[in-house]
Amino acid sequence: MRSLSSLVRPNILSLAPYSSARSEYSGKGSVFLDANENPFGVYNRYPDPMQKALKEELSGIKNVSPENIFIGNGSDEVIDLCYRIFCRPGIDNAISITPSYGMYDVSAAINDTDLIKIPLDQNFQLDADMLLQYNNDDKAKLLVLCSPNNPTGNLLKNLDDVIKNFKGIVLVDEAYIDFSGTPSYIDKLSLYPNLIVAQTLSKAYGMAAARIGIAYASIEIINLFNKVKPPYNVSALNQLAAITSLKEKEEYENQKQLLLTERKRVTEILINAPSVKKVYPSDANFLLIKVDDANSLYKYLLDTGIITRNRNTQIPNCVRITIGSPSENDALLNAILQFSI
Ligand code: PMP
Repeated sequence: MRSLSSLVRPNILSLAPYSSARSEYSGKGSVFLDANENPFGVYNRYPDPMQKALKEELSGIKNVSPENIFIGNGSDEVIDLCYRIFCRPGIDNAISITPSYGMYDVSAAINDTDLIKIPLDQNFQLDADMLLQYNNDDKAKLLVLCSPNNPTGNLLKNLDDVIKNFKGIVLVDEAYIDFSGTPSYIDKLSLYPNLIVAQTLSKAYGMAAARIGIAYASIEIINLFNKVKPPYNVSALNQLAAITSLKEKEEYENQKQLLLTERKRVTEILINAPSVKKVYPSDANFLLIKVDDANSLYKYLLDTGIITRNRNTQIPNCVRITIGSPSENDALLNAILQFSI
């Protein structure tokens, strides 16, 4: 890895962050006349800008110290901050894979950063050599990988070599890791100072409405995130909702197990459906299927009230289907079994 200071945008290195009213005092106050809030109401006070209670809860679950945790307004905020911290607009570039999650492109474009996309092979795996050929380019600041990958559904293999050898920052987006049965790269943070692991409560934790994304990384990298984020980027309601949901460990396990059982059931039925040519193996809570004509299947399902994600433009004739509740999956299976081309 190159030195962290040579990877960070100079204006971010020298940035004097905004100091919010609620982060300036310490001790036990009871009369709050510092933040121009309305003294009346239920939601009248600003939330904890550093989300301490939520980080404590995550720290216990993930076995990571709170100083190694950043909370974003969804992991989409984490992705955007990576470009904003490391990539000089119009100068630096980032590397990712294709097909993958669309926000990597959009965030790169917003930040005026060229995104070089390395095609995955036919098993949707990474060509590490192709990727590492950009290693001598000092402008290649950020590598964005998604594992399990969206929309292909599979874990990327042999990431260790890539993370170890890439000289810039590596963001591993683990939005779907809970469904994979494999350990998170969080466990390897102490081995790789250039590693940022993004996770989210939007998937296995069922909290998409609360917009809680998380970055795990070295203290130095987390401090950069804290410098750049808006002062109160996670609402008090969302922090509380997240803490409540993280405490419901049995519910999380039960839901996850049910979704995994359903993933297996739906896969087995779809494999035998006449209109389905291929069901790709999934380590996530969705399946990618190949059909003869993805546009017509997508439209047919839409007409029956079932909304899936047409990925035809990314992967020809492929549709991505989220694993829903058993009755939602039954509706999908009935519809697909009746679909004829
Ligand atoms: N990463 C991946 C791979 C995703 O698929 C998604 C959501 N579809 C996100 C990140 C964003 O998740 P969040 O709700 O935490 O912003």
